[in-house]
Amino acid sequence: MSISPILQLDNIEVIYEKVILAVRHISLTVSQHSIVALLGANGAGKSTTLKAISGLANAQRGEIVAGRIAYQGRDVTDTSPGDLVKQGLVQVLEGRHCFAHLTVEENLLTGSFIHKPSREQLSQQLELIYHYFPRLKLLRKSLAGYTSGGEQQMVAIGRALMSRPKLVLLDEPSMGLAPQIVEEIFAIVNQLRQDNGVSFLVAEQNATVALRYADYAYVLENGQINNQGDAQTINQSAELLASYLGG
Ligand code: ATP
Repeated sequence: MSISPILQLDNIEVIYEKVILAVRHISLTVSQHSIVALLGANGAGKSTTLKAISGLANAQRGEIVAGRIAYQGRDVTDTSPGDLVKQGLVQVLEGRHCFAHLTVEENLLTGSFIHKPSREQLSQQLELIYHYFPRLKLLRKSLAGYTSGGEQQMVAIGRALMSRPKLVLLDEPSMGLAPQIVEEIFAIVNQLRQDNGVSFLVAEQNATVALRYADYAYVLENGQINNQGDAQTINQSAELLASYLGG
């Protein structure tokens, strides 16, 4: 018996403010327990695709005007972001978005409230996150605003994990970070997938690092998928380079 994919997009089209066609004909699949990379240059449509899935495009006056999104086999095209989080689908936004005046631990706790966990579940979940991000345990009482960019990215991912997701949409985790930190973050993502079966759809401009960890990749150019394949094949394809250089 084949396992159904955790996420399937069928011909998605998103328009902002009734006129700006940001993405079109986006069909993609994320298999259970996999890491899928969504690659492309600035403005290619990566964030829009993720926001369409998580329901956040709506909040920015974006609208899915065509297509269907299935999560765990169910149509979630019009499901609200809050309901999706309850079902285990969560997005980590580009730019990290920590609460600067809250401590690292308080930031993490904000990720859990939707499930109203017991005190015991909460501390178990925190311990799990500290296991993967030992640096956050050391910093748990520090104000998030005083931590480094890499640590804030870890807080943002950790906060998403507090809701015990099955699928995480990760937008540009490498943005503005030193190569060593980027590597560390991707290695943790990979470990989370291996140990806990969490699936990841990762939007990245940094194709080199994303392809090292991804199983499969889609390349976006001008709002459309122009190439796809297993990560190794994509890594060797000339079209990948072309799409980054604008054809
Ligand atoms: P980046 O890495 O720079 O975020 P991206 O690949 O994620 O790039 P998107 O942010 O999805 O690309 O942008 C795709 C297109 O949609 C761009 O032309 C962009 O200007 C447009 N766009 C994105 N957000 C909005 C918005 N809120 N309102 C209007 N147009 C938008």
